[in-house]
Amino acid sequence: MATTKIWTEINYQRDGKQVGYLNLPHSVTRSAYGAIAIPVAVVKQGEGPTALLMAGNHGDEYEGQIALSKLIAVLEATQVCGRVIILPATNLPAAMAGARVSPIDEVNLNRAFPGDPAGTITRQIAHYVDSVLFPMADVVHDFHSGGSSLDYLAFASVHESGDPAIDARGLAALRAFGAPLSLQWKRGGDADLSFASYACMRHGAPYLGGEFGGGGRVSRAGVGLVERGLRRLLAQTGILDPALAPPSEPEPIRMVAVPGRDWFAYAPEPGLFEPATELGEAVRKGDLCGLVHFVDNPARTPLPCHFKEDGFVVCKRHLGRVERGDCVAHLAVDI
Ligand code: CA
Repeated sequence: MATTKIWTEINYQRDGKQVGYLNLPHSVTRSAYGAIAIPVAVVKQGEGPTALLMAGNHGDEYEGQIALSKLIAVLEATQVCGRVIILPATNLPAAMAGARVSPIDEVNLNRAFPGDPAGTITRQIAHYVDSVLFPMADVVHDFHSGGSSLDYLAFASVHESGDPAIDARGLAALRAFGAPLSLQWKRGGDADLSFASYACMRHGAPYLGGEFGGGGRVSRAGVGLVERGLRRLLAQTGILDPALAPPSEPEPIRMVAVPGRDWFAYAPEPGLFEPATELGEAVRKGDLCGLVHFVDNPARTPLPCHFKEDGFVVCKRHLGRVERGDCVAHLAVDI
């Protein structure tokens, strides 16, 4: 079986705090023997559980990248019982470009699992995370946002795995994280198994995600929620002294779910999309989601787009121009 080409001076078994790089060989004209240096930190003391904290899976989703960079600066080995592995910019080329996909191979890391040690750069990153890091982890939190094209109500999330034991551990971890909006992505028959979530859970570890902002911005509230929630998660896992975790958020947890594909709305034609709802708004099946305008041909009647189910708007497209098939909104429902 082929093994990873990624090499590192980090020793995952060593006690103490190490901040270094995962070096992914990338031989190009300007650097014949060069490597892409993906930042990693390991903070370990003694025996105990391992938490893997990731951000920059999508490079244009910033709250987690900032929160994890700040965590690396302050977390000390004396504060932990077990191990915390932190990847603040997992798909480094994408993070440095402020882009969802890598500029090197145009691959979306979160559609590349379980990866390929002989594949393109992003597939090699996926393979390292899947074959080296996920097997070490007792819990994984991968921080996302809506990226450049989507706006989200901030939430932490779990993906339904289909394994009741993993799902129970995931929901307990989600409650410990304590986001006022906490969401479960239901697993339909059309689940895309190339997501990091499903790859992680195939190794038996619960996987938390979440959308903490969007629109290519940095949400201050999102950064703060990640910073507080991850400490509560580490305390629940037994890695961090609960005295070092902040208290629960003042708001009670609202548990919601995205049941499936029918809770998404897509642009029916290319044009300029005028949304008819705001984030957080409750809607009914058949309600107007928005209108596609044809500003190059104003004689053409704007085309409506309707919601196919009841729910509330948790995600909206950020950008005005749409192509046919772009997601313009999706709903969640209370559970
Ligand atoms: Ca994302």
